[in-house]
Amino acid sequence: MKTLFIYNPHAGMMQIKNHLYNILNTFAAADYDLTVVPTRKQGEAISYVKKHASEYEFIICSGGDGTLNEVVNGLLKSGAEKLPDLGYIPAGSTNDYASSLKLPKSMEKAAELVTSGVPVAYDAGLFNTKYFVYIAAFGAFTKVSYSTPQDTKNILGHMAYLVEGIKSLAEIKAYKMKVRYDDMLIEGKFIYGMVTNTLSVGGIYKLNPKTVKLDDGELEVLLIREPKDVKELSEISSYMLGTLDKSDLILSFKASKITFENSSNIPWTLDGEYGGDSNNITIKCANKAIRIINKSN
Ligand SMILES: [Mg+2]
Repeated sequence: MKTLFIYNPHAGMMQIKNHLYNILNTFAAADYDLTVVPTRKQGEAISYVKKHASEYEFIICSGGDGTLNEVVNGLLKSGAEKLPDLGYIPAGSTNDYASSLKLPKSMEKAAELVTSGVPVAYDAGLFNTKYFVYIAAFGAFTKVSYSTPQDTKNILGHMAYLVEGIKSLAEIKAYKMKVRYDDMLIEGKFIYGMVTNTLSVGGIYKLNPKTVKLDDGELEVLLIREPKDVKELSEISSYMLGTLDKSDLILSFKASKITFENSSNIPWTLDGEYGGDSNNITIKCANKAIRIINKSN
C-alpha cells in the first residue's frame, strides 16, 4: 500500500526521536510502500499533503494536534478523488483530540494500532475556508497583546486560567457579537467562546462523553458572557471546574452551523494554532469528513 508517513520532528519536545526506529519497523512489518517526510516548518504538512494526497492510499501523521490539523487541511483541500485514510501517532503535549479518540499514549502502541485498526469516520469543523479537527476558539484578556500568532496560540492556555479563576475583572476583555444558529439569535458581550468536536479542552475542561459524539454532524458550542462582578466571575470558574451545573453566564448548545458577527476583528485559534481574525465567521460541521484508523467499536 502506497503510504505517506509525515511527522513533525519537534512536536512534544522532539518526542519522536527515541521512537522513530520502532515506528518504522512496525510500518516495515506491515509491508507499506513507505515515503517518509519530516516537516521543517509550519504550513509544510498542509502544502505537501494538499499537493500529493492523490498519490497515496494511506497517510500516517505524527505530531501534535496542530500537525494533524495541517494534514487534515491538506487532505480535504487536495481535491483527491478518493481520500486516503489517516493514521495518527500523537506526539504533542496536550493532545486533547488524541485522548478523545482514546488513541494509545505510547508512540509504539499508536503505530501498532495504525497498522492493525480500522478506518472510523469522524466529523471535522470548517471555519470559513479553514478546517479544524477539534476546536475553534476565541477569548482574550487585556494582558495579552496578540501581536504575534504565538500569543493567539495561548488562548487554550487562557482557558486554564478561566478554570483556575481570574483574579480581577480588569484582566478580561469582552467582545460584543451576534451569534446565530438554527433559528436562534444571541446577542451580547462574550469573554470566551469555543466550537468543538472533542471530549476535553486543554486537558482540563471535560465534555460529557454520553452526549458528545464525534461523528454526529453536530459541534458543541460554549459561550461565556461578560461577568459584571467578582461573584459572577467565580460562578464562571465553578462552572468550568464542573462544580456548578448551570449558569446564566454560560451558553452551551450543539449546532451544525453557527455564525459570529462582531464589530471588531477577533483573533481565533484553530486546534491551538492561530486561525486568523475576521468580522464574520461561519463555522460548519463537515460530517464524517475524515477517516482515522482506530480500534473497531
Ligand atoms: Mg459531534
